[in-house]
Amino acid sequence: MLRPRMGTRKKVHAFVRVKPTDNFPHEMIRYGDDNKSIDILLKKDTRRGVVNNQQTDWSFKLDGVLHDASQDLVYETVAKDVVSQALDGYNGTIMCYGQTGAGKTYTMTGATENYKHRGILPRALQQVFRMIEERTTHAITVRVSYLEIYNESLFDLLSTLPYVGPSATPMTIVENPQGVFIKGLSVHLTSQEEDAFSLLFEGETNRVIASHTMNKNSSRSHCIFTIYVESHSRTLSDEKYITSKINLVDLAGSERLGKTGSEGRVLKEATYINKSLSFLEQAIIALGDQKRDHIPFRQCKLTHALKDSLGGNCNMVLVTNIYGEAAQLEETLSSLRFASRMKLVTTEPAINEKYDAERMVKNLEKELALLKQELAIHDSLANRTLVNYDPMDEVQIAEINSQVRRYLEGTLDEIDIINLRQIQEVFNQFRVVLSQQEQEIESALRRKYTLIDKNDFAAISAVQKAGLADVNGHLVGEPDGQGFGLGVIPFSFKPGKKIKSKKTFKDQLSIPVRKEGASSPLSTKELDISPSKTQLILPPRDGDVKDMRDRETSSTEPFPSDSPKEELRPPRPSTPPSKPVAFEDFKNERGSEINRIFKENKSILNERRKRASETTQRINAIKQEIDTTKEALNVQKALREKQGEYENKGLMIIDEEEFLLILKLKDLKKQYRAEYQDLRDLRAEIQYCQHLVDQCRHRLLTEFDIWYNESFFIPEDLQVALKSGCSIRPGMVPINRVVSLGEDDQDKFSQLQQTMLPEGPESVSFYNAKVKTEQKHNYLKAITGLQQVNKK
Ligand code: ADP
Ligand code: MG
Repeated sequence: MLRPRMGTRKKVHAFVRVKPTDNFPHEMIRYGDDNKSIDILLKKDTRRGVVNNQQTDWSFKLDGVLHDASQDLVYETVAKDVVSQALDGYNGTIMCYGQTGAGKTYTMTGATENYKHRGILPRALQQVFRMIEERTTHAITVRVSYLEIYNESLFDLLSTLPYVGPSATPMTIVENPQGVFIKGLSVHLTSQEEDAFSLLFEGETNRVIASHTMNKNSSRSHCIFTIYVESHSRTLSDEKYITSKINLVDLAGSERLGKTGSEGRVLKEATYINKSLSFLEQAIIALGDQKRDHIPFRQCKLTHALKDSLGGNCNMVLVTNIYGEAAQLEETLSSLRFASRMKLVTTEPAINEKYDAERMVKNLEKELALLKQELAIHDSLANRTLVNYDPMDEVQIAEINSQVRRYLEGTLDEIDIINLRQIQEVFNQFRVVLSQQEQEIESALRRKYTLIDKNDFAAISAVQKAGLADVNGHLVGEPDGQGFGLGVIPFSFKPGKKIKSKKTFKDQLSIPVRKEGASSPLSTKELDISPSKTQLILPPRDGDVKDMRDRETSSTEPFPSDSPKEELRPPRPSTPPSKPVAFEDFKNERGSEINRIFKENKSILNERRKRASETTQRINAIKQEIDTTKEALNVQKALREKQGEYENKGLMIIDEEEFLLILKLKDLKKQYRAEYQDLRDLRAEIQYCQHLVDQCRHRLLTEFDIWYNESFFIPEDLQVALKSGCSIRPGMVPINRVVSLGEDDQDKFSQLQQTMLPEGPESVSFYNAKVKTEQKHNYLKAITGLQQVNKK
């Protein structure tokens, strides 16, 4: 990340350094008094035709003219600021430009054998390490690399170090969001000045050796020595840290082609050099032009490698090395022109800030803890009982899941909002419940039915061949075609409802049956709904449903019996007893066990309802008291405000009475919550018991229905078959043999059965289909049973 220094647009600093000479042409080269301008004057009769009859005087204004300047002064003038700002995070680039022999290498590297004459490079390293020593507040690391670009090829001048070794693949310039780096270039961590110097010398040596062994002219290559600085604050737990690079560039000689009549290798070198230097100039000028958004960095290796270190956001210094000799005036002019063009370029240095992920996490954790404390204080001031903001554990999630289920079932009116995390978990659990229900429905369907894709004609025709379905895909024997056919589930119902409640019921059922009806021989499975044994279910009549429920809680009987009891004796009476009468008998005989469980469940249900109503009353009472307390508190508060408030160090002083009221209110709210929680639990239990009661009633009625038909309406021959047992059991009576109940009775039964459907009318077609299918199944079984009996 770059952070620009506001309003600090800077120009590229351009200096000119004149190489000392014994015969300095004073009449041709003049310096201004400000030591910043340099004038070149040519006599008209100069032998060099090029300048004849053309402009003869040039004046260049630069940032400084270094004439007879010591290495020390050059460093102070040119490099010192750039280096010191690099430690604050600003990239810096210092380049030496000029014709071969004008003193670029002398300026940059200096005389390696003479300390006094050392150049910018060793001095920069010294300054960096000196500054690190001074900055005890920061942990600063230094790395260096030394790159040479020769004929557009990259060479690592430090690859000879034993621990580096030559790179197997050629180096490439890689760009990433952090900047530009050269893949394959060795970068060396240096903890002290001396190591850094060793590296510098290693590189210099390689530069010289390469010029011999590879027959390459060292003045034809660009050399970039880079110092990488990374600075972390030791004192601040700041996750930000800064990085910077100082590029010290010794450019190839700028002399132009043609002067020496170059050919072959030299020509090639010269072409590359001219190109790269002119690209460098183009890139820098483009950088200075704020209207330009494309900078041609990739045109050559030099500009590409320096992409994040040129112009733009870094400190840039150009040292133009010139000869102080009349014979070199043409190149000198060319170099000075380059310098003055560079000087016009503006840059906007910016700090390279990066983020230390580890520190950032630590700081965020700290802040989180603080905010939590803040929240706790806020809650206690707002009289909220302790709210937990931590991530939820399994138990809490399970609780939310149960709330959501109860909410969906309708036993919970609303889910209280506690905090954001809880809200999110509620939504999450909605999704969980929904997808579970979908799966349950599907697996329930698959258990029972073979689902065939409507578009799978092969499968459909196979089923048709087997005689199980008619051409429309309806099961054989479905006159209305509304039953459970083949293909996509052909009914509309609310996803999951029945199956889900059925499962919950099953799950729940096993508990009270075992616990409160321990002697019950009926297993969960046996108590399960068996719609196969019921009549078809018809849409409910709204009022009746409620009516039936009310009745069932007040009376202990599931079936209203107004007629007097009649004894049911074998042999079978010529006229069957009325259904209510027969029902009484059934409850005492065959249905006694179910009836007992049914009654037990109902008494539990009633007991829970009573408790729920008591709890509701208590809650109301507490609510009232809360209201009165609040009112009293308000009065007290108003009084205090009227009398003038006392403050002590920003804290409000309240009297004891008000304080006690606050405490009381807090206590009441706590009670209120506890009671409310109880009520919620009770409601869940009530819902649960209600299911049990419903299912028991259903079972009782179903069994009764079968028993009644078998006892009074089934022909004698079938009775024999039933008695001989084998494959026919109650519930397997062929439906075509079962005499229908009277209009009224059937109606009543249908209504009763409707009350067993908690889902409402949408589910009717679903159950109808289910019942029909089961009936068909049982019918086929019974027929087989009868055939076997007849054979005997
Ligand atoms: P370049 O790198 O530009 O080709 P060099 O730095 O190699 O030129 O300089 C050529 C020669 O001139 C070297 O022997 C160097 O020591 C000498 N020289 C260059 N500038 C100075 C200077 N300012 N003072 C003393 N000697 C210099
Ligand atoms: Mg040189």
